[in-house]
Amino acid sequence: MSANYQAEVVGVFGQPVAENPTGVMQEAGFEAAGLNWRYLNFEVPPSRLGAAMQAMDALGMRGINLTIPHKVAVIEHLDELSPEAQAIGAVNTVRIDGGKKIGENTDGKGFLRGLRNDAQVDPVGKRVVMLGAGGAARAIGTELVLAGASDLLVVNRSRERGETMVADLREATGGNVRFERWLGTFKVRGACDLLVNATSVGLYPDVDAMPDVALASLADGTLVADAVFNPPETRLLAAARTRGLLTLDGLSMLVYQGVIAFEMWTGQSPDEAAMKSALRAALAVG
Ligand code: NDP
Repeated sequence: MSANYQAEVVGVFGQPVAENPTGVMQEAGFEAAGLNWRYLNFEVPPSRLGAAMQAMDALGMRGINLTIPHKVAVIEHLDELSPEAQAIGAVNTVRIDGGKKIGENTDGKGFLRGLRNDAQVDPVGKRVVMLGAGGAARAIGTELVLAGASDLLVVNRSRERGETMVADLREATGGNVRFERWLGTFKVRGACDLLVNATSVGLYPDVDAMPDVALASLADGTLVADAVFNPPETRLLAAARTRGLLTLDGLSMLVYQGVIAFEMWTGQSPDEAAMKSALRAALAVG
């Protein structure tokens, strides 16, 4: 057999990207699978996004992740969008199929897989309260409703952002989605099986911050999930456990969004444990 030293290339376009840890996790997955693939972080300013997307063709790249500020802007450079990415209105993963660039969004799918695999919770029929109305909230909320959550209450500090997201989600999913303005300490009044923090409250370096929500208003057995992954153990999750509630950390979502991108790009199932431990190690030193 002749040697082949040519690696397949995927990566991420963003600005900034220097501290994006996804590559550490993907390369651990490639190594465990014996794949000669590389994941590179490319610093791409907004004015160069179109050129960067064209370079994917020229270089024969197998796919790309998009992060801030390209998740919406990339859409005009794609051939197709998956129905979920269309519903969310943002793309974090591009896969190549028959020479076409297909936009996908694995963030919400990653959350769902973590919910099922790490928390053993099936979203069907669940009543969800979600804090936040940014990009992560859109992805998580859309996928939860599409997966059969019966009720989604979006709670957000800014009214305009929250109401716009709720209107978009209702139109895209036809689901039962409502908005409540977040003023002072938020108390959960109706039935709630799952509380999701999809705000950036608690994110490094503001690790002592915690979303202003009354955990005492949650029933026993409620699952509290955090999208914040750095640190994985947020103050919210620590407080929820002290209150006797179940928890799911943001590392779970981060790992599974990467696992799903790996599957889309390579057509193989990765070693999830290898990817997770590489990510944990990277975040511990980062
Ligand atoms: P955005 O900037 O798009 O949205 C931020 C949200 O947080 C908004 O709803 C904003 O409310 C709210 N918010 C910010 N500060 C406060 C505050 N002090 N009090 C109340 N609400 C606040 O961010 P993203 O949606 O992209 O990211 C949100 C979090 O999710 C981040 O921590 C990010 O790291 C994490 N994330 C995790 C992923 C994973 O795989 N685990 C993937 C993607 C993101 P308002 O509209 O009022 O400003």
